[in-house]
Amino acid sequence: MEPALHNFYDLTRDELLALASRWGFPPVHAARLWSYVYLAGVEDWAAMDELPARYRAKAEGELQFRRLGTAHETHSSDGFTRKYLLALPDAARIETVLMRYTGRVTACISSQVGCAMGCVFCATGQMGFMRHLTAGEIVAQAMHVDAVLRGTQHTAALAQAAAASPHARHERLRNLVLMGMGEPLHNYDAVMRAIDILRDPNGLALAAKRITLSTVGVVPGIMRLADEARPFHLAVSLHGATQAERATLVPVAKKWPLDELMDACRYYIGKQQRRIFYEWTLIEGKNDTVETAHAVGQLLRGQLAQVNLIPLNPTPGYAGEPTGREAAKQFQAVLADYGLPSTVRQRRGIDIAAGCGQLAVARR
Ligand code: SAH
Ligand code: SF4
Repeated sequence: MEPALHNFYDLTRDELLALASRWGFPPVHAARLWSYVYLAGVEDWAAMDELPARYRAKAEGELQFRRLGTAHETHSSDGFTRKYLLALPDAARIETVLMRYTGRVTACISSQVGCAMGCVFCATGQMGFMRHLTAGEIVAQAMHVDAVLRGTQHTAALAQAAAASPHARHERLRNLVLMGMGEPLHNYDAVMRAIDILRDPNGLALAAKRITLSTVGVVPGIMRLADEARPFHLAVSLHGATQAERATLVPVAKKWPLDELMDACRYYIGKQQRRIFYEWTLIEGKNDTVETAHAVGQLLRGQLAQVNLIPLNPTPGYAGEPTGREAAKQFQAVLADYGLPSTVRQRRGIDIAAGCGQLAVARR
């Protein structure tokens, strides 16, 4: 039986070139196809008139652009955030968020439908795990944001204009955070493949230093990242400074206890010579006291680290409240005494519950 069509977005550029060779075409045509899609934003075969007809016909018969449809779209009242609920072919839905702060465009993308990690305050965790996303579905989210920035130009005329001058005409996607739905290190291979595709210098060419992957603390994944040359940023969600406190918020702490997590983080920092961003969701009266801040200070003291404090975004399944501005400042002051830089995340876009109620922009 004929295999199903490949999703174009699953393929690396090298694989696309290798496919062309296997079909008996010179790789240059595949390179042109790659540029049409990732540089010019063109997915209309008919508009790809620089491809020889035979190669185009073959590619069209083998490849499919599995874009994600918009099931719902919301814009925050401050105009800085747009949240897209994107539809997958099996009717599952994922969230992708476009953020425009401080003149920079950031896409916050999902790695899974739902999440198996069950963090009690997280809307995605409350949903449970449905499935992993494929690499192509992860790439397609970034392409969705890219198309929004382009003004979705899929007509032949616009495509030609864009092909002639791929970068000049629109704001480009530059920053990527894997902080949407799901746990990226639970879907390691697909996530890394997607990041490789998005980093391709002949494509979207996202710079590694503008990509941040956030993990709940999947220890084997952190060890693997430490051993591989993957120069993007790592954020680790901490939320508790003792094993017992952390486990009440983050159930998988029972599987990967705090001391093992800290060992993995130190190993990562040592191997990569790169700091870790620790994320801390501030929940009033729960993990925001001065004593807790001292415990965090003692835990992380001496590490190449930065703490990103995120006041809780209330979710229906969890009764907690966000920490106020003053208490957050006090928390920061204590961390500073331990030599730990920190930020408090802006809660812009909160009126649309952007990013699964977990809008968290990596600030560097
Ligand atoms: N699964 C990964 C990445 C997605 S969550 C992780 O947990 O790190 C991204 C960040 O948003 C995490 O730090 C997470 O703890 C935080 N978060 C989740 N729900 C939140 C909420 N309701 N309010 C504030 N932060 C939240
Ligand atoms: Fe999953 Fe992250 Fe939500 Fe925890 S916070 S349930 S790991 S998405």
